Amino acid sequence: MNETVTHWIGGRREAGQSKRRGDVFNPATGERARTVALGGAAEVDAAVRAAAAAFPEWAATSPLLRARVMFKFRELLEREAENLARLITAEHGKVLSDARGEVTRGAEVVEFACGIPHLLKGEFSESVGRGIDSWSSRQPLGVCAGITPFNFPAMVPMWMFPVALACGNSFVLKPSERDPSASLLLAELLKEAGLPDGVFNVVQGDKEAVDALLEHPLVAAVSFVGSTPIAEYIYRTAAAQGKRVQALGGAKNHMLVMPDADMDQATDALMGAAYGSAGERCMAVSVAVTVGSAGDRLVEKLAPRVRALKVGPGTDPEAEMGPLVTRQHLERVRSYVDLGVGEGARLVVDGRGLKLQGYENGFFIGGCLFDDVRPEMRIYKEEIFGPVLSVVRARDFAEAVRLIDTHEFGNGTAIFTRDGDAAREFASRVQAGMVGVNVPIPVPMAFHSFGGWKRSLFGDMAVHGPEGVRFYTRLKTVTARWPAGIRSGAEYVMPTMK
Ligand code: NAD
Repeated sequence: MNETVTHWIGGRREAGQSKRRGDVFNPATGERARTVALGGAAEVDAAVRAAAAAFPEWAATSPLLRARVMFKFRELLEREAENLARLITAEHGKVLSDARGEVTRGAEVVEFACGIPHLLKGEFSESVGRGIDSWSSRQPLGVCAGITPFNFPAMVPMWMFPVALACGNSFVLKPSERDPSASLLLAELLKEAGLPDGVFNVVQGDKEAVDALLEHPLVAAVSFVGSTPIAEYIYRTAAAQGKRVQALGGAKNHMLVMPDADMDQATDALMGAAYGSAGERCMAVSVAVTVGSAGDRLVEKLAPRVRALKVGPGTDPEAEMGPLVTRQHLERVRSYVDLGVGEGARLVVDGRGLKLQGYENGFFIGGCLFDDVRPEMRIYKEEIFGPVLSVVRARDFAEAVRLIDTHEFGNGTAIFTRDGDAAREFASRVQAGMVGVNVPIPVPMAFHSFGGWKRSLFGDMAVHGPEGVRFYTRLKTVTARWPAGIRSGAEYVMPTMK
């Protein structure tokens, strides 16, 4: 109860100077489980300086040796996977099987980073001029910062730091203050894997720590994942400070269901995609757009399934859905359901009254299903980030695609159909960064890159995969001639090949 989650600076836990503390809850019981140190400018400065001091030696370490640290880290992650998953469930609330999945998806980025010697291979051109060769290589940036959301306390940091470190950068992570403990276990495992002290640091905190990172002159690049208003703020502020920045924001992912879709498959897909992790996923499906006759058939199949959802503490192996992360978030989600009713949508399944014996103070809400949601409603436009699925009826394919294309967000989307022509047209035309065809949550694998369009991503590059390597490196091109080559005397015109 009195335990405080600390920072990690220069290879060890640090309490820091700041006396500010945040509460960390067990979402299943509603009890305060521990506190977290909330760092400020002093803690950020100490972490950034530790990272800057460690950078030159780490950058000069062969990519092969950096990869070996990642191999070892991958092995340790496997050893600690269950502990990490339990930490995630304890502070986030998601069911344990889902937390295990999160660890696996994070570990896959580490596996990708193990291939860094290959990924950093440059390009070479022999004889760009007589006796002149030219090559390009990618070099690390320096100190990189990562600011991450509550909903994936292990995976989202692992979208960032394995690639950043493998590329030769040092790193300062600012995890979510709602579930901070996973970050310290990851830091300990990196140290055990042989990562030199100072290369990876953690500053716990909130806006104060974030602002200090954005303003610190020694931070070269900022990766952010979180809600859209903050993503936009991070993008603007960090870019104005001359930093490289990628800022991933919120989402309202639509799944288009065509009348020819396999409705059982579509229903199963929606159950997992809308209610898994209590809808607290940036790739959750929160809108089902049904075309023509698909609407009635889908809602008829969905409603009993949503009513039968097994909601319980994340540690219950029978539970399909856990609680929300905080009481404040629970109230927010509830108020969106109230709003939807007020806006005139039809609440087919109402999860607001859910009570769990023994967990009366937990942050639980049952699955909610709205039908007849219209595009002008706020429950359609805004991200709710809870177990609330809205069904919107469209007359035809074109109207359904128009809805997706004109929505503010463009993270992921999916189509369920048996029609190859419609699927191809959809995948090629739709305005979203990640597209599924009969796959509800099309999260790219670690060796591809993850990122949305429109107001779901601010910046030019997505995370992990090849785009991650590009983000965490900068290009250098060398043109070389050795003295024994042909001498042509001083030249005053633009050099061209003769
Ligand atoms: P959030 O934006 O509240 O917080 C994200 C991070 O920003 C945290 O570390 C937090 O401490 C910090 N922060 C919060 N307010 C700040 C402020 N005013 N100034 C500076 N920093 C601030 O997001 P969250 O509630 O932790 O996470 C949920 C959101 O993240 C959802 O919108 C979800 O869609 C989004 N998300 C997006 C992706 C993606 O890949 N696009 C992935 C996961 C989550």
